[in-house]
Amino acid sequence: MSEAQLKTYSNLIDGKSISAQSGRSLDMIDPCSGRAFATIPDSDDVDINSAVCAAQSALDGSWGRMAPVERSRIMHRWSQLIMENFEELAALESRDTGKPITAGRADITATARYFEFYAGAADKLHGQVIPYLDGYSVNVHRVPYGVTAHIIPWNYPAQQFGRSVGPALAVGNAAVVKPSEDACLTTLVMSQLALEAGLPAGALNIVSGLGDRAGAALANHPGINFMSFTGSPRVGTLVQQATANHFVGCTLELGGKSPQLVFADADLDKALPVVVKAIIQHAGQTCSAGSRILVQNEIYNEFMTQVSAQFSKVRVGTPDMDLDCGPVMNAKQQQLVEGFRVDATSSGIELLAEGVFAEGLDRSGFWVKPALFGNVPRDHRLACDEVFGPLLSAIPFEDESDAIKLANATDYGLVGSVWTKDGNRQQRVAKRMNCGQVFINNFGAGGGVELPFGGMKKSGHGREKGFVALEHFTTTKTIVHFHE
Ligand code: NAD
Repeated sequence: MSEAQLKTYSNLIDGKSISAQSGRSLDMIDPCSGRAFATIPDSDDVDINSAVCAAQSALDGSWGRMAPVERSRIMHRWSQLIMENFEELAALESRDTGKPITAGRADITATARYFEFYAGAADKLHGQVIPYLDGYSVNVHRVPYGVTAHIIPWNYPAQQFGRSVGPALAVGNAAVVKPSEDACLTTLVMSQLALEAGLPAGALNIVSGLGDRAGAALANHPGINFMSFTGSPRVGTLVQQATANHFVGCTLELGGKSPQLVFADADLDKALPVVVKAIIQHAGQTCSAGSRILVQNEIYNEFMTQVSAQFSKVRVGTPDMDLDCGPVMNAKQQQLVEGFRVDATSSGIELLAEGVFAEGLDRSGFWVKPALFGNVPRDHRLACDEVFGPLLSAIPFEDESDAIKLANATDYGLVGSVWTKDGNRQQRVAKRMNCGQVFINNFGAGGGVELPFGGMKKSGHGREKGFVALEHFTTTKTIVHFHE
């Protein structure tokens, strides 16, 4: 496709659709073909500065004075508009990320639900009255930070936009968003719908561009008052260091190496499809992917035979084919995943099963065959490090205490699951797993708008989703009144 035929998307700054001040743009690459299909602004510190100033002006204007119920109404309308444009947004999300259209639809449904959930919560966050000394009245108000910054990755761009920006706006912050340069088109389109819903200019600003240019400019901008970062541990560390320079707090939603523990008494028929889907969803590019399956010795061979059979049926294709998963995001991710595979093979780790490519795929796309590896040594990097691709490591364990030790043996702590029929064990194990969410006889990679989500250890800190996110995007102000 020639440059002239590429669809052009714009930033949203101060209610206006505009290009980068420098005039530069970036190509958006279709992961299924490796070819450009659209362009986005390649923004820099000048554009970021305009966005931060616009956000501050919105806070100084009508947005800063708006009643919570009115914010709620706007966000409800926004959610409805997203659903009115559902098919178009789902197709765009799938095109941008390469995921099956069913997954694109699920993502847009969840995004609209984030705005609906936080619209409903906007006028329900209360402060406190504290009994204090005689002659005093003490009120604790929950107040927005002011200008919130949001840096977002490419794997679930629409959902991550909703879950980060939804609570921030609901409580009255003004947001500046730097979406991923690899996938951000639905974010740019949905921000236009926010204006249509009645959001005042400047309350929401989207500035696309590269991480080390636009992202770094946002993290280092002295005008931001809070940072919400979702992405890799490496960049999360840089962002936290940058925000610390100007005493701004941040939440970090980072990676994972989430374990799925299968005990000998588990209902294996129920576990089977779930443990496979937990890694296959979006080709393993889910922070909370169930990338380690830990199976009790007694049933290891029997269960892994079943998992292998199921895994061999996994099919990889384009969004329109709507199979089990699509390609990985880009050439860098493809090389990274293939590096793990080559390493595993040269270490003599047994390959139990591989998925299959659909016929007729464009060879220039970033295709990766899903793979299941058995008896992975506990200290091998395939067992310890985040792959962010469709590679599943199976490891046997002896007993409950060995299972817990193994589950907690990585630097990460995002999500985990426990499969057992023993109710006491369910609780014991769940309580001892060092992670932010535990699923019992289930696995919900990233699911649950209402459920607090976030990591421990290298998976980050702070919580998103649910009501707790509203607290994260506010701080308290204690007003002490002495009145005799
Ligand atoms: P990334 O860290 O490379 O990029 C994330 C965002 O940070 C992008 O918008 C990027 O442009 C920006 N960025 C890059 N360099 C920057 C810099 N120097 N300063 C400021 N911003 C910068 O991550 P990715 O490759 O987009 O996403 C994959 C990673 O994200 C994986 O580790 C995955 O586990 C993690 N992730 C975590 C969650 C979660 O909720 N915990 C969700 C999705 C993805």
